[in-house]
This record gives sequence, structure tokens and C-alpha cells, in this order.
Amino acid sequence: MSSSPRFSALKGIQDILPPDSSLWQKVEAAAKEVFTLHGFQEIRPPIIESTALFTRSIGETTDIVEKEMYTFLDKAGRSITLRPEGTASVVRAYVEHHLYNLPSPQKFFYSGPMFRYERPQKGRFRQFHQIGVEAFGVDAPFLDAEIIVMLRVLLERLGLKGVNFEVNSIGCEKCRPGYRSALQDFFSARLEDLCPDCRRRYEQNPLRILDCKVERCIEVRRGAPRVTDFLCGDCRAHFDEVLSALTLLNIPHVLNPDMVRGLDYYTRTTFEVTSEHLGAQKAVAAGGRYDRLVEEFGGPPVPGIGFAIGMERLTTLLRDNEGVIGPFPDVCIAPIGEKATKEAFLMAGRLRARGVWAEAGYDGSSLRSQLRRADRLSSRYVLILGDDELSSGRVKWKNLRDGSQGEVDIRGIEEFLSAALRGR
Ligand SMILES: [Zn+2]
Ligand SMILES: [Zn+2]
Repeated sequence: MSSSPRFSALKGIQDILPPDSSLWQKVEAAAKEVFTLHGFQEIRPPIIESTALFTRSIGETTDIVEKEMYTFLDKAGRSITLRPEGTASVVRAYVEHHLYNLPSPQKFFYSGPMFRYERPQKGRFRQFHQIGVEAFGVDAPFLDAEIIVMLRVLLERLGLKGVNFEVNSIGCEKCRPGYRSALQDFFSARLEDLCPDCRRRYEQNPLRILDCKVERCIEVRRGAPRVTDFLCGDCRAHFDEVLSALTLLNIPHVLNPDMVRGLDYYTRTTFEVTSEHLGAQKAVAAGGRYDRLVEEFGGPPVPGIGFAIGMERLTTLLRDNEGVIGPFPDVCIAPIGEKATKEAFLMAGRLRARGVWAEAGYDGSSLRSQLRRADRLSSRYVLILGDDELSSGRVKWKNLRDGSQGEVDIRGIEEFLSAALRGR
């Protein structure tokens, strides 16, 4: 006897189910509203790109490119990668469509799945989701501050509490070489103590040692030179202006000179929103400036800045904060008998046309089990429709929130419910 196969989602990839999906919708709607208010418009780049796009922008020696890319060959033998983040695609689109010819700044937001082939663990998924923004064409510190403030406005609107805004500047191509050699000097006497990855990073990209997760390396890098001590005059001035703009708006923020971000394309301002409730992976959102990336993609020298919010982490925090569930039906119609079921079917249609979320029971189950179902759905109202009610032209209603009940003329039910729900 053969049994039917039972399928499961791929390892590290999860379904987003109701009622959780309504929390996701809430975040997406709030993000769209806040971003639009700040002049950002939606861009929908593709999910797959050529692999070279990411190795070039994120950096050959980063963890993402070295270990985590979801890369495969297509039928023509081209190397394709499922996007591990959003910025590279947006910059590619910006350059490809000559969007730099439009008035600056050009501001975009996006949302959708990202992919990283890493060991699945708590809070980490191979398909995860981000909402992000990118702004091109302005390098004024006010824009950096405005984008950080926008992120804060969004998180506040969502009711997220207990998060820190951490900021840093990682300099530019002028000050980076000095810092790089200071790091190499520092680690040269400690090479033996570093993990094999970091020993390689020491040659190729010593900054990466600063975000190694290996315990030993965290220990070894205590007392390492800090990037903020190596900023050139321009970068120092830029960073100071970002900080004073944040202070001007009374935005609490913490300087974190250890934050170098895991991607090579960042320059100057970097920032993260962290929460202690997330454990080791504590950033819920992160971003920064990337003033060289458009040029590296073959465009003109146009500065850029952006951030991305991790949806899985944000919704985890929101769920812990308020335990959101719902949405709930406005009314469940409980018909008893065939004739009443037909009436319930018609009534549900009329109610929906009036903007009332109505559920009707069609399975002929008992009144008792229909009432239990309404209760489990947390419906606001229940309507009881039996033969008696049909012949008398009256419907019994019950408000499941406050327990009140009564009868109403069957022809006036839409009016009655719309009015009752308006006052909710
Ligand atoms: Zn600099
Ligand atoms: Zn290491």
C-alpha cells in the first residue's frame, strides 16, 4: 500500500500564518505610511540577480558572500543568487535606469523576502523578510539624521519599546587605509589567538575581525583601535553634524564605535536599532551610508544612505510587547435549518457590501457549536437565524463583547449592525 507523501517547508524556511500575518500587515501598512510621508516611493526589484552583483557590492570577504549566499546555476549555466539583502538591487536599478538624472534626492522603499544559506537557528531563517529604504543624491548630515528619525517614528508608531539607537561613523576611502593598518598593527602580535577565518581577514579585510562571532576573537579584539579615532577632517565634521542634528530633535542615541556592519559598501554614518530582548542577534534594524556604491556600479558619484528592518525580529518583539491577535469578524451568522442557511448566505453578502465582515455557518451544525465557533473567532456579534425568526421576520442578536442581546427586524439588520459597529 502506498501512502501519500507529506511535504514540509524547506529547512530554515517558514510559513507566516494567521493571526501572525495580520501583525505583518500592520507593520507593512505603517511603514508605507511613514515612508510616504517622508517622500519615499515603492520600488520592487527582482528577487534573483546575477551573483556578481552581490560579491561586488557586499564584498568578497564578508560572511554573507563567503558563507551565506543562496547561489545556484540556471539552465544556461549562469550563476544566480537569491538576494541576501535589498540595497545592491536598488542601486543596480538606480544606475540601470539612469534615475540619477531625476531631481535629488531620489528616495525608495521596498519590502520582501531575502535569502541566506546559513545554519538555521533561533531567530535566523534561510528565507527572511526585510522592509528597507534607500535615498540617493544628498550627502548632507541632515539627511542621515532624518532617516534615523524616520525609523524611530515608525517603531514608535508600532508601539515598540525598549530599543536603543546606536550610531557610528566608519569613515571614507581617505581615512579607511590609516585605520586598516592600525588594526593590522594591533592584531599582528595576536594572530595565533584568532580563528582561521580572522587570520585570513587580517590580510584581506581586517575590519571584518571586528564583527567575528567567535568567542576567542571577541576576547582578542578588546582594546583594538577605534575607527572614530581615525576619521579624516571631513568625516569627523560630517559625523559631528549628524550627532548634533539628532540632539536637536531630542533623539536619544548611543555612540557605538565597535559597530562596523557586516558589509563592505558602508561609508561614514552607520546605525543599528537594538533590543536586549533579541539575545545575540539583537539588531532589529540597521543601515548606513554608502557614498561610493553607485559609482562602483558604473553610475556617477552619487551618495546614498538606507536601512533595512528585519521583519521576523520586529514582529517577534511586537508580539512580546502586546501579544497581538486578530483581526476579528464583526458578526457570525448562525442559521438553523436549510431555509435559514440560504437566508444567512444572502445576508452575509449584503452585510459585506456595507463593509461589515460577516461569517455565515453553512455546515448545518448545531446552534451550540456555531456559538462556540463565534466565540473562538472572537466575533463582535452573533446573529441567530432559525425557522421561528424567519417566519416572524425578526433576528436575535448578541453582542459577544458586553453580553447585551435583543431582536431586530430582519430587513433592518444591515442598518442595525453598521450603526452598532460604527460606535465600537
Ligand atoms: Zn574620511
Ligand atoms: Zn574570528
